[in-house]
Amino acid sequence: MNRPGWWFIFKGHQLLTQDDRGEMSVPLMRDMEELRLSPLGIQPIGRIDDAQCYVADLPEDSEAPQGMAFRGLRGIFGSLDEDMYAMAIKALGIVNWDRTSRFCSQCGAKIERKPYIIGKECSQCGFISFPRISPAVIVLVERDDSALLARAGRFKGNLYSVIAGFVEPGETLEETVRREVKEETGIEVKDIRYFGSQPWPFPDSLMIGFTARYAGGEITIDGEEIIDARWFHVGNLPEIPGKISIARSLIDWFIEKNSQKGGTGK
Ligand SMILES: [Zn+2]
Repeated sequence: MNRPGWWFIFKGHQLLTQDDRGEMSVPLMRDMEELRLSPLGIQPIGRIDDAQCYVADLPEDSEAPQGMAFRGLRGIFGSLDEDMYAMAIKALGIVNWDRTSRFCSQCGAKIERKPYIIGKECSQCGFISFPRISPAVIVLVERDDSALLARAGRFKGNLYSVIAGFVEPGETLEETVRREVKEETGIEVKDIRYFGSQPWPFPDSLMIGFTARYAGGEITIDGEEIIDARWFHVGNLPEIPGKISIARSLIDWFIEKNSQKGGTGK
């Protein structure tokens, strides 16, 4: 290892960061001996410009070196630059995968990381496995200038968000959107449109965002997973998710769209 690279070093789900007068980054160095840390494993994960990036996994009892701290990825959104944050998300996905895939699912032997691809190969039977990525849809449903937002029992505070749920085997994404909105709120939707996507490595999701329009039905909730759902007027929104999430991007899109309408008098 000749040139310094960016090191994404995790303890649990927390990333080792340094804060240099308000500029947050991960360590730039040749190897981990520079920090006197002993990782459980190291893997190359890609490049930012010309610099190689690595991910390393530390034991739970590791201490942060002087001037550095372990921080949760949600908390540092907006503090790391965009490329570095995206790499941190990827790094956490890979570290999660590495921790939870040590043995072959076919024969039970130990598996090892393959060079050049993000996969592991069994030393006994040759079976190759890849990181698990679980697709989930997330959808903002509009009805005129109101949006359908729901409050899940697991949400903190008084937060409401858009509808989301995991894709089931055999479903198209559009079918998942229709099923999830119907199951969680009793509402039927139409005009389902792709919005964008976001990797969400807590632990292994890919969130696929959509917008849709109200087609029929009255709000009914199960009272368990979802404890409330309502149409919120754009001028009277409740507490909504933070900037990191695609849920928030969907709601911001909805606000922006409706404020433009209001602004031009249409
Ligand atoms: Zn095997």
